[in-house]
Parts: sequence; C-alpha cells; structure tokens
Amino acid sequence: MDLEKSVLRKVGEAISRFKMIREGDHVAVGVSGGKDSLTLLEALLLLQKRAPIRFRVTAFTIEQGKFLRPIEPVGEYLRNRGINWTYVEDAPSLDLLEEQPDHGCDVCSRFRRRAVYEVARKLSANVIALGHTADDFCEAFLRNAMFTGRVSALPPVTWSREGEFRLIRPLVYVTEDLTTAFAARLGAPVIPCGCSQKTGTVRRTLRDFFTEIEKEHPFLKETLLSAMGNVEVSRLLDTRFLTLDEPPSTGLPELSNEPLVSLTVS
Ligand code: SF4
Repeated sequence: MDLEKSVLRKVGEAISRFKMIREGDHVAVGVSGGKDSLTLLEALLLLQKRAPIRFRVTAFTIEQGKFLRPIEPVGEYLRNRGINWTYVEDAPSLDLLEEQPDHGCDVCSRFRRRAVYEVARKLSANVIALGHTADDFCEAFLRNAMFTGRVSALPPVTWSREGEFRLIRPLVYVTEDLTTAFAARLGAPVIPCGCSQKTGTVRRTLRDFFTEIEKEHPFLKETLLSAMGNVEVSRLLDTRFLTLDEPPSTGLPELSNEPLVSLTVS
C-alpha cells in the first residue's frame, strides 16, 4: 500500500477510536527533530485538509540540550512549508544538563513536561500531540510487565492535571519502519538526540529483542497492540477484577473495537 495512505489510515484510526481530536481544537505538535514527530506533524496537516471537523495545527520544539546538531534546519524546513513553529530554549533543562549531566529520563521528562505545558499555554493550544509510536507502546508494555510488575503501556489519550490540556499519541498504530520511510520521503531534516545513541539500556535491549523475533514474526507489534486493546481481566491475577466469592452474574461486557467517529482515508 502507498506509504502516505498507510500512515494516514493508521493515524486516522487512532484519532477516531480514541476521540483524540474534536471540533475547534488547537493541536500543538511537539517536534523533537526526529522522524516520528515530523511524521506526526505531516500526518495531522494532511488529515486536517480531509477531516469532517475543523482544527488548528501548530508545531513547537523544546531545546533541552540533547540535540546532536543544530535544530535550525528543522525550523527552516517547517517555515518553508508555511508551518507555524515555535522554538524554546528551556533554561532550567540546560542548567540541569550542566549541573547533573547524568540525570535520568524521569527528571528529564519532568522538566520537559513543564516546558511543554508553558509553550502550549502561550500558544493557546488545548491539545498536545506527542510522537510516541507503536514501537514505544510495545516497549513500554514489555518494560512495565517485565521490570516494574505492572500490565500497562502508554495512554493514547490523557489529560494534564486539572484538565487544561488533552495529551494525544496519534502514532500509536504507526511503527517506526513506517515513520523512517515516511520522513525520508518527505525529505525532512532529521536531527538525532544524543540519548538515542545510548547503549546498555533496557530500551536498547527490548529494541534488539524485537528486531530478532520479528525476523520470524513480522507482525509481532501489531499483535501486541491488539492484545493491549483486548484485555481478559478474568485471566490475570488482579483480585480487583476477579469474582472470587460467587459465580459472576452476567460476565464482562463485550468490548467493541469499531471506530467511534469516522475519520477515514480513502
Ligand atoms: S532518552 Fe534522553 S531526552 Fe529522552 S527522556 Fe531520557 S534523558 Fe530525556
């Protein structure tokens, strides 16, 4: 199938199923300089033209001192395409990098979240779109199950505290082989982040695991994503969902996987 159609179909499916975007929304897309966020931005701009609802799309980038090359080519690329792009150097993140160069992802993410909310507030956006892909969902699912003892991944839709922003992850069904090919087709400048080159991390181990097992099972991630949307709680060990004292009266309601709103790509 055509690459663009394939990406748009998957993004459209996620937006519809999880009611990510609504009439009148202003969606601010976090552009990290990588292939995923550039794919996300382009997909939303294309869907904006075809969607039966009206919504705005703008882009922003937070500089936390992690880019391996200057981000300006991304800005130039976006401006040339007429995209409203806001770039913010986050002073607290840059100070953190200088004072604690080995800080972990939890601190880094906390700093980024604060900066993202500040930018979105300035832009008067009510929705923040993040570029987490199907690969990120699958890795989070396995990481949580194997290393933190929880069955969970990432929320496709969630809200900031007090409901100021809706946070959406429209690339939930888009794998990184697609974002890599799509960003290359766009001719977008991809600026790597220093962290992506780290070795010896759980993330790297899981990536290697997927690469290996997908040689024989190429649809592994699709199956894992289906599993995340098809939970049989009565076959797990969480007593909150088990009927231990008496037989269940009616059983669990059937979960529908049908899209709730039609936002299709022909
Ligand atoms: S991978 Fe790097 S940029 Fe990403 S959260 Fe961790 S420290 Fe921050």
